Amino acid sequence: MTVTQDNFQNSGSLFDQMQELEHEQLAFCHDKETGLKAIIGIHNTVLGPAMGGTRMWNYTDEQAAIRDVLRLSRGMTFKNAIAGLNIGGGKAVIIGDAKKLKSEALMRRFGKFVESLGGIYWTAEDVNMSTRDMEHVNMETKYVTGLPISMGGSGDPSPVTAYGVYLGMKATAKKVYGTDDLSGKKIVVQGVGHVGTYLVERLVKENASVYISDIFDDKIKEVTDQYSVKVLGKDDVYGFDGDIYAPCALGATLNDQTIPDMKYKIVAGGANNQLDDELRNGRQLIEKGIVYAPDFLINSGGITNVYYEQQGNYNRDSVYAQTEQIYDVCLEVLDQAEKKNITSQEAAMNVAKKRIEDIGRIKLTF
Ligand code: NAD
Repeated sequence: MTVTQDNFQNSGSLFDQMQELEHEQLAFCHDKETGLKAIIGIHNTVLGPAMGGTRMWNYTDEQAAIRDVLRLSRGMTFKNAIAGLNIGGGKAVIIGDAKKLKSEALMRRFGKFVESLGGIYWTAEDVNMSTRDMEHVNMETKYVTGLPISMGGSGDPSPVTAYGVYLGMKATAKKVYGTDDLSGKKIVVQGVGHVGTYLVERLVKENASVYISDIFDDKIKEVTDQYSVKVLGKDDVYGFDGDIYAPCALGATLNDQTIPDMKYKIVAGGANNQLDDELRNGRQLIEKGIVYAPDFLINSGGITNVYYEQQGNYNRDSVYAQTEQIYDVCLEVLDQAEKKNITSQEAAMNVAKKRIEDIGRIKLTF
């Protein structure tokens, strides 16, 4: 049986778990003074140093934190590979309530932990991390990317992420409708935060019929004040009679409960881990005639942005040019999925794995 992030049993010893998901390293750090408990997962470094953000979360137990770091770092391997970047997959988690535990000392101690790995892992901002936190991490290690422009970094990656999502959506429309013109299409953007709002801007410009949904009224107002869009209640998204659903809020919204209600033709959005169960829900979408643009492929614009910063040659035009490849790769993935009768997620994973294998092989020659 192929191990996916859903059927991953997460039982047995730590080494069993690492073996199951094929991790290279799992590093732990504890600091009594600051209360830091952090884990860095390094999944695969064939393409280059592992890169992925740091997340702080009040996990129910240590095993939940280990499971998260193992799954997330593995996910980064495939995202970075399919984006054509020369970086591997990694991720860090800090255990604890960010509101209570986070301090300058804790973040700097975490920075020392990252530094101690000597550059095999590069970190960035993720859930519950602020720009200020990254500044503190950066005081102790240079292996940080995705810094604000004021600190010499590349700034907010969301516009690039949204651009990639938009191109992935267009490629999927081309596959489904024979044209990538989105004008007149009823498109629901779920979650109008950073990525969602930039996506709305592009879709409105293309004269799509845009519907938005968010759990916060102020977010909705910010968008309705600027753009001509309609608003959907948060529970009305799944059964809505629209053409394209763009999840830009949470993961796992494609699940056993939501898919049966869906009338969309396409799912293409920026959220991470949209499929609750990669294989089962991916197949359900096919049975319903819904074409799914794999999330980790089309939302890779953001990691491309921070990658160029990490390489020390940040150039906005290059970042956008590289992100544009999402269109062709997405079309190729959707064609392969159809031809081989597999889910688009599986087809995208195959592209990522093949690149890692191919590049791994040439590295053996020197
Ligand atoms: P964000 O926090 O700025 O925006 C998320 C929005 O979703 C918020 O406005 C929030 O109120 C809303 N939301 C939460 N639950 C909702 C629900 N049930 N229904 C409707 N709206 C809801 O986050 P973001 O940076 O825009 O990222 C959005 C998604 O894209 C996340 O899953 C993130 O992991 C993923 N992603 C982001 C980037 C990036 O560059 N920011 C890159 C890759 C992936």
